[in-house]
Amino acid sequence: MPEGDTVFAAAARLRKALDGRVIDHSQFRVPRLATADLRGRRVTSVRSRGKHLLIDLGPGGPDDRDDRPLSVHSHLKMEGAWHVHPVGTRWRRPAYQARVVLRAEGQEAVGFELGVLELLADPDAALAYLGPDLLADDFDAAEAIRRLSADPARTVGDALLDQRLMAGVGNVFRSEICFLRRVLPTRPVGEVEVAPMVDLSRQLLWANRLRTARSTTGQTSPNARMWVYGRRGQWCRRCSTPIARDHMGPVGEDRVVYFCPACQS
Ligand SMILES: [Zn+2]
Repeated sequence: MPEGDTVFAAAARLRKALDGRVIDHSQFRVPRLATADLRGRRVTSVRSRGKHLLIDLGPGGPDDRDDRPLSVHSHLKMEGAWHVHPVGTRWRRPAYQARVVLRAEGQEAVGFELGVLELLADPDAALAYLGPDLLADDFDAAEAIRRLSADPARTVGDALLDQRLMAGVGNVFRSEICFLRRVLPTRPVGEVEVAPMVDLSRQLLWANRLRTARSTTGQTSPNARMWVYGRRGQWCRRCSTPIARDHMGPVGEDRVVYFCPACQS
């Protein structure tokens, strides 16, 4: 599932392929953007903000008449991905899943099943609501702690997913962070130590930002990468109790959480 680390890695791949290059073909396969044409615009940066990805473009456009910069904003949600390859390469996902195709000087980027895809004139204003980005070079831990602590009655599991408090943690990391901190996701924030939880979140995402397969245990073999996520009924790696699974998320959003009922409380 795409989380902050996945998006950071996608931004790194897109940056390598597109940064500094001029778009010579663009095609949006969503009705709202069907007429958008980015040809002639130079890619000025590619960056991630939590789970959001921005491709910043300079002025230009097909008639070279638009003097405003523009950004392609995307969010991978559950199934999305950006693929990058030389123009002419066979796609690894079906064409009907493609939402946008960008080509620049021989490189092609295709966004598949993006949960959000839009063009923004002022992306920083649009994303200003996000909390500190766990993968930013200048991650502001103090601000993340302040925001997470603001509502002490809220559950830890809920707060960790709230991107307005701290940006980058998704469903997988939420379970792993709670396990490593030995707290149940249902505990109120006011009853846990927030600072070490923020430090751990930063460490885990940072360690995974460029890995091909996510691991919170430090192990790389497929069955050993996670402490609890996806391991219902399997033994806890710490105390051998079977791992439990529950549903926990905002109303209308069914999200699973995994935990050890013995060593988390
Ligand atoms: Zn345990």
